[in-house]
Amino acid sequence: MSTIPTEVAVPHFVGQRQISTTVKPVPEPGPGQLLLEVKANALCGSERPQFINGTEVTPGHEAAGVVIAAGEGTSTPVGTPGVVFLMDFCGDCRSCRQGFTHQCLCKRGDMGFNRDGGYGKYELIHESIFFPTPHDLPLTEATMLLDIMGTGGHAIKRAQLVHTDIQSLLIPGAGPIGLGVLAMAKLLLGEEVSVVISDVVPYRLEMAERMGGLPVLSSKMSLQEGFRHHGIDAPDVAIDCAGKAVVRDECLSLLAHRGVLVSVAHGEGLQIKDLYRDFVFREMTLIGSEYFAYHELEENLPLLQANRSYMDQIITHRFGVHEIQHAFELFFAGATGKVIIEQ
Ligand SMILES: [Zn+2]
Ligand SMILES: [Zn+2]
Repeated sequence: MSTIPTEVAVPHFVGQRQISTTVKPVPEPGPGQLLLEVKANALCGSERPQFINGTEVTPGHEAAGVVIAAGEGTSTPVGTPGVVFLMDFCGDCRSCRQGFTHQCLCKRGDMGFNRDGGYGKYELIHESIFFPTPHDLPLTEATMLLDIMGTGGHAIKRAQLVHTDIQSLLIPGAGPIGLGVLAMAKLLLGEEVSVVISDVVPYRLEMAERMGGLPVLSSKMSLQEGFRHHGIDAPDVAIDCAGKAVVRDECLSLLAHRGVLVSVAHGEGLQIKDLYRDFVFREMTLIGSEYFAYHELEENLPLLQANRSYMDQIITHRFGVHEIQHAFELFFAGATGKVIIEQ
């Protein structure tokens, strides 16, 4: 293992879609902390504000790396590979004690948003948010455990809380999160469950179709025409990954009796125009789904190991950190799956 320098060049998101380089000190792990050498970090749509507005924090919240130094009171051996959970949860509040670590009431920070994240070569984290992965799992693939399998699987499980016999699913939005929800629907609910997925970008729909989704090109047909075209009368669950108010409204009115609308997307709002007809009468449920709980990493790891080539399809581009400007431009142009920065 190479010696750890005292400072290192890291990407600097200066704003106006420009990424330059700056030099930062390499931190030493304090009590309960680990220093990782980052090997891979996936780009995410939620980094758009950082790319446009700039930030002094080093972004990157889908990181995988190897422990190269460990602080006092830790038990993770140097050399351990693993991934980083975004939310630096306290472990002690009412939410954390119940396992809802993604709903921590006094979290210490969000990696890559208000703490330096995984586009730097080194990342300082609390040991509690490190999830060790097997040595034979490449770290680029291990990033699939985070926003793709973690967030995607969590949304499915949220729907299952109120719907115990899901037979069909509608996913507006075939970006990386939509593809993650599609993959996890197939892995958690079964191959036979119909998953209709819509988008305006043909490239994304081709990916979705290869992964077992039933594609609907939104510019060519409405959502209703789309799932009828695939032989579905009304889907049981819609998981919104598009973030458009009109799409959510449409989903609520089109879902089957006992229908569930889960919103993973952040943008815009939702309007229930006729509360009785669109909501009460058919006993609909509206659910928010934000990231996932730390313990879901452990549940999803065997699924990733058993389905590596299936999940690997979501990763379409890999770049070195010196190509990060190009990687972001390409990613936000829309015709990619997951784009990974490798170090
Ligand atoms: Zn993300
Ligand atoms: Zn907490």
